[in-house]
Amino acid sequence: MIKSENKDNNNIIKLNIINIPKDKKFFNGQCPILMYDSSINKWTRNTFNVYVINNGIKNPNLKNEYKSYFTLTFSFNYKPNVKYYFASSYPYTYTQLRLYLNTLNKNCYKKIVKFGEAGKSYNKIKIPYIVISDFNCDEDDLNNKKCIFITGRIHSGETVSSYVVQGLIDFLLNLKDPISIYLREKFIFKIIPMLNIDGVIYGNYRLNLQGKDMNRLWYNDIPFNPEKCDESSLYINNIIEIIKKTLNCRKIYLYCDFHGHSGKQNFFLYGCSLEEKKFMEIFAKKNNIFNLNDCVWKIIPKKNNTCRALLKNVFDIDYSYCLETSMYSYLMKDDIIGNKTVPFNIEKYKQIGKDFCLSLFEFINPQNEENNLEINTDNNINNNLNENNNNNY
Ligand SMILES: [Zn+2]
Repeated sequence: MIKSENKDNNNIIKLNIINIPKDKKFFNGQCPILMYDSSINKWTRNTFNVYVINNGIKNPNLKNEYKSYFTLTFSFNYKPNVKYYFASSYPYTYTQLRLYLNTLNKNCYKKIVKFGEAGKSYNKIKIPYIVISDFNCDEDDLNNKKCIFITGRIHSGETVSSYVVQGLIDFLLNLKDPISIYLREKFIFKIIPMLNIDGVIYGNYRLNLQGKDMNRLWYNDIPFNPEKCDESSLYINNIIEIIKKTLNCRKIYLYCDFHGHSGKQNFFLYGCSLEEKKFMEIFAKKNNIFNLNDCVWKIIPKKNNTCRALLKNVFDIDYSYCLETSMYSYLMKDDIIGNKTVPFNIEKYKQIGKDFCLSLFEFINPQNEENNLEINTDNNINNNLNENNNNNY
């Protein structure tokens, strides 16, 4: 995100950002850059003439075929005394996450959500960790619940994944929707919404403060030897310990790591095996911008160090996914002009989180019991929580 402020007269301003490492980002100008306009207090897509060209500035460490940077160019109509911010996708900061989690710390959610921390980042920031379930049940029922494990923002710049996770949490905490209630009765949802908090705070696109891609550190040192590891691997090991602790007392039924995709449109899932395709097909029926054609149900060797692969290959959980959502746009079928590109908005991202839950419901209820759900919401919300039940989740 960058900021522009000026007292000049109305004008068109053209900005060139010269250190873009990949040309496929920003869809080569097919998608306008987001612009925040302080005079209307909102993000818009009112930028134009967006394009990306190879500028020939060499860096041998770049991974693109030219080993050189690209320039992203875009223009906007400038109004004097207005602050502008620009971003490739809707920003979602650590402060925003804290404020959102604070809104969940209400009496009405007391019996269905618990807050904790999943350790501390390299920069000693607490990593928020929330657990959602219907804790208002006897100890045996609680112990028998399977776990759905969710993580997000391991790639800090993939802000859209935070909106998808927020949509998922909002739906799981719905006090009246029978499917939300059912899912809470059936599962314990463990959610670490922002794994790379340092990267988020310091504005890294993908890496943590040690310059590591944390989504390539999940397999590095088995058996784990803390004396040989750097801080990044210790941090990942701490998350692995949470997973192991969960597996000691219950099954993890499904894992999903939420990402944003900088090159593709729509949203889609990466899985690990063919058995995982069914959930993708259900998701595609629930949400018409889910793109089954971009889904993958195997692990290619270079992805062996991802959390998705670790959970499948080492911990042998049944369903292990990575959900990729475009940071820009989706294709919609249009009867008149054929497919048209539509930029995502925040509500559309949150809808994906909700539809993830609805797809999960249908996945575990192939006959679709939605119409047969008979749940007394009052009883579920008002009964006292037996605090002794809290230890094992
Ligand atoms: Zn990612």
